[in-house]
Amino acid sequence: MTEKLSEYKKKRDFERTSEPLGGKGSSKEKIFVVQKHDASRLHYDFRLEMDGVLKSWAVPKGPSLNPKDKRLAVMTEDHPLDYAGFEGSIPKEEYGGGTVMVWDKGTYENKSSKDGERVAMKEALEKGHLSFELKGGKLKGEWALVRMRGKGGRNWLLVKADDKESSKKKDILKEDKSAKTARSLREIANP
Ligand code: MN
Repeated sequence: MTEKLSEYKKKRDFERTSEPLGGKGSSKEKIFVVQKHDASRLHYDFRLEMDGVLKSWAVPKGPSLNPKDKRLAVMTEDHPLDYAGFEGSIPKEEYGGGTVMVWDKGTYENKSSKDGERVAMKEALEKGHLSFELKGGKLKGEWALVRMRGKGGRNWLLVKADDKESSKKKDILKEDKSAKTARSLREIANP
């Protein structure tokens, strides 16, 4: 569809992987998705709809409900919007080979601000500080993504804001069934 996804397309052979090629338009409600990805190293891909694509971060340890946990989130290439529904296996020898689960999905609301004024997500992204409220099945309440200095600006931190949805005790990663099909990673890998 757009030049925006050229890096995404370059990395993949769509004759071999069932991942989407991209092309669906944008909906009014902005979506988010977290995909658990059992690749060479297990991680969680955190994606936010922005400007017709999914801005994406790989979170090695996954999200935490504890506001004291600052989870490294490495920015990766933009993904097409219809990637949000992708669940299945990417062939081993292909880019990102392994099993993908739609671990959580829903919509989000921009909460980014500066000096008490609402700032557009795109601007907040450029400034390196995004705030948003997640309305998912597993992840709720306010969250922030904050860019770290150095490393070409690809390293961010994903942090839960201190609110009624935060928890110092609950390990949300133990909720381990697909938000789309209620399957486990193993069931997705061996359908
Ligand atoms: Mn991934």
